[in-house]
Amino acid sequence: MSTTPTINALSVDVEEYFQVSAFENQIDSKDWAKWPSRVRLQTEQLLDLFAECDARATFFTLGWVAERHPALIERMVRDGHEVGCHGYCHIRITNQTREEFRADIARSKALLEDAAGVPIQGYRAASFSVTRDNLWAFDEIEAAGFSYSSSIYPVHHDLYGIPDAPRVPFAVGSAKRVVEIPVSTMRLGRHNLPAGGGGYFRLLPYRVSRAMIRRINDREGMTANMYFHPWEFDPDQPRPPGLSAKTRFRHYLNQGRALDRMRRLLHDFRWRSFGEVYATAIGGGALQTDGGLDLARA
Ligand SMILES: [Zn+2]
Repeated sequence: MSTTPTINALSVDVEEYFQVSAFENQIDSKDWAKWPSRVRLQTEQLLDLFAECDARATFFTLGWVAERHPALIERMVRDGHEVGCHGYCHIRITNQTREEFRADIARSKALLEDAAGVPIQGYRAASFSVTRDNLWAFDEIEAAGFSYSSSIYPVHHDLYGIPDAPRVPFAVGSAKRVVEIPVSTMRLGRHNLPAGGGGYFRLLPYRVSRAMIRRINDREGMTANMYFHPWEFDPDQPRPPGLSAKTRFRHYLNQGRALDRMRRLLHDFRWRSFGEVYATAIGGGALQTDGGLDLARA
């Protein structure tokens, strides 16, 4: 039996509560300035907890946030975290032309690098919006100079996902110079269950999340790749009117308990940034799989 615990990969998608895709029909982007900003307070709460628990993470951050809160980006770097790119203002790739996407990632990468003072190597699409219809995105991600992406959730979901994509990192882009690191799933029969954090982490009892990560680590010998959002840990955020019952459930569920749950997660497992955990693969090392599914030609 191995006694070396797996080091898992932790990420936070840094955006305002009013920028989430599920709110886009209620809150127009031209009204964002009317809503009180909470992202700095919410993210600092996580940074404090990560420091307390010796966890390091990748903060996939919007260029929009970097423009307004450069001190927050500086603190991420100072605390030893990795800054990644989450696009400029959370437009899903499915709502962009290829040219718009190219401009979006160039602008946001430059803003984040200005604030961070270091190169940005990782990208995550808003709402995991890489689908079979926009696989050109990987060529643009490669051309923009990113070395990895974490933009595919291999699950069935009404808003995102490529259910038959590989569950382990695989090479993407024309030159295969970008590594796609999918968010974690748990295999059950012929299906992938979401096991990567987000709303499911708040929905399920903590012991279920812990059992899924242990199974991914110990039975499958894989790293768990988790994602969270700063707004998931803030029960005091303003609540826009007119949201559907499903959106309210997904967004607000168990926010008051989420920070304690996160503290347990950070104590029960070891966490580092995507860039640290996958340094070998990102640097051109052998991948566990070539995908078995050539997404670039699909
Ligand atoms: Zn997001």
